[in-house]
Amino acid sequence: MMAAVKGKNTKPEIAVRRALHAMGFRFRLHKAGLPGRPDIVLPKHKVAIFVNGCFWHGHDCPMYRQPANNRAFWIVKIDRNRERDARAMSEIKQVGWRVLTIWECAMRGRGRIGIDALIIRTARWIAGPRKAGSIRGGT
Ligand SMILES: [Zn+2]
Repeated sequence: MMAAVKGKNTKPEIAVRRALHAMGFRFRLHKAGLPGRPDIVLPKHKVAIFVNGCFWHGHDCPMYRQPANNRAFWIVKIDRNRERDARAMSEIKQVGWRVLTIWECAMRGRGRIGIDALIIRTARWIAGPRKAGSIRGGT
């Protein structure tokens, strides 16, 4: 379960990509030139998108549960991931890109909003003026 949300080309990420593509957005993946290697990059809009697993990135939501085993190990590791995320966000903004985080709980779990609502909100966000934002599930 924990390993499933780590790394690149996760299921939520693929679902977001597919839906964005169907709406006519063109993007690149895992652009190495940007801080934190965002999962989806829309060069035309200068928007970087991270699709974050709630466990791995320590999201403040019902999908994040402290593991029963090796608790200290995981707490340190997830804290480090959160720090890395925060740093990547601020660095991306500094180089003039906008950054959107899409959380796994928007797509999975009891608070999910569903892929259609998620993509509509994502498209609106891309068209909007905000420098940073996130889309998440309900709590
Ligand atoms: Zn979450």
